[in-house]
Amino acid sequence: MPELPELELLSETLTRYLAGKTISEVVLNPARAFVIRHPAQDFAETLRGRVLSDVRRRGKFLLFGFAECDEQLVINPMLSGRFAYCSRAAPTLAATCFTLRLAGGDEMRFLDATMMARVYLTSRPEADVPTFADLGPDARDPHLDFAAFAARLRKHRGEIKNVLRNQAFIAGVGNAYADEILWEARLRPLRRTSTLDDSERAALYAAVRTVLSDATAIVKQQYAEHKHPLHKQDRSFLRVHGKGKAVCPRCGHRISSIHSGGESTYFCRGCQV
Ligand SMILES: [Zn+2]
Repeated sequence: MPELPELELLSETLTRYLAGKTISEVVLNPARAFVIRHPAQDFAETLRGRVLSDVRRRGKFLLFGFAECDEQLVINPMLSGRFAYCSRAAPTLAATCFTLRLAGGDEMRFLDATMMARVYLTSRPEADVPTFADLGPDARDPHLDFAAFAARLRKHRGEIKNVLRNQAFIAGVGNAYADEILWEARLRPLRRTSTLDDSERAALYAAVRTVLSDATAIVKQQYAEHKHPLHKQDRSFLRVHGKGKAVCPRCGHRISSIHSGGESTYFCRGCQV
């Protein structure tokens, strides 16, 4: 699932590719147009002729803006939404939901193998996009200092991993980076937030900031070095998430995993308390 670091790369890269480009045509894949929460044909006709301005990120949503228009194309990629930027000649993958054909010959394609993504066209995302109005401050928001973070933590009780992933607490963290943040903070995922002492809360806040800024730098570097196309993720750099058979890079203990509800949590019993 793309989370804050991958979406940060996407917003920056897609802005670079798309700003000032005119959408000459929207091609829908009828078998996958379900992800578009708008009458599909109307969606295609409305977007034709529009000029893209920028792509911003809010939590785990991407918002595509248009010149001289209040409406935005709002995309929540969920589990498997991916973006490809390519020439018209590039082979079309089966998971493609829709394609924005751009004047000049390039295309932006939105792909989703599981069709869990949701796509909206709206000038009022707070009213029209479920959960958007409930988003907490961005996990990398410069105004989110330790005092603000600790105050929010007092209001969101429960297991720390669930709280970190709750977009109403802070926006942008999902399953993978929650594991990484908790490893960095040396805290077990099932600890309850009410059991954290002052130094543990401070360690958690510091880990949110460093893990996300380091990961954002790494995914940007990977893309700059052409290690993978935009629609692929290379998360081999993660330290515990998905590393069930490895040893902890900090203490050498074998990494533990818990699987529940189709999702997995990874942590180290040797150095997370
Ligand atoms: Zn360890």
